[in-house]
Amino acid sequence: MIVRDPVRPLRSTSVVLAIGANLGDRRATLEAAVDDLRRTPGTIVDAVSTLIESVAVTLDGADETAPRYLNGVVLARTVLDAKSLLAATQRIEDAHGRVRAERWGSRTLDIDIIAFGDTQSDDPHLTLPHPRAAERLFVLDPWLEVDPAAVLPGRGPVAELRRVLVGGAG
Ligand code: ADP
Ligand code: MG
Repeated sequence: MIVRDPVRPLRSTSVVLAIGANLGDRRATLEAAVDDLRRTPGTIVDAVSTLIESVAVTLDGADETAPRYLNGVVLARTVLDAKSLLAATQRIEDAHGRVRAERWGSRTLDIDIIAFGDTQSDDPHLTLPHPRAAERLFVLDPWLEVDPAAVLPGRGPVAELRRVLVGGAG
């Protein structure tokens, strides 16, 4: 009997996650969320950005009166498929007391999947890449910090998207 290549390596996908919090001990929650991501089966965390602070954005626009956000970006690889990764990140949100009250409302923890490999999908349950990533400096800046050559699938280099967003001023 010939046993051919009994160890078939699992294919992993490079993913970009945005983490954010504007309630509670934001830094402690985000650090715990990264630990949870490291413990997620089949998932390896490769890089975690500096956490940066920014004003809350609600459906009505920037809200100076709302608690400010702390945001960061995590680069990882996973053998999970996109929906399983979303389920895992939602479990982590839930474990940190996330209450799904209003869309874009304050939260102890938000984890968005910014990119899942090169996947493009307009499924509202999981839109890829994340449809508002290119408009959010609090995503683009930390992403560039951990990957200066980053590319948003279907949209182009993140450094260029950032230039457009800041109107050539930065
Ligand atoms: P937001 O992050 O835009 O403030 P929520 O975190 O409340 O909104 O997420 C609302 C829904 O967005 C989730 O139930 C999820 O199914 C959906 N969703 C769609 N695309 C994505 C994505 N790329 N990453 C995370 N959630 C997504
Ligand atoms: Mg979210």
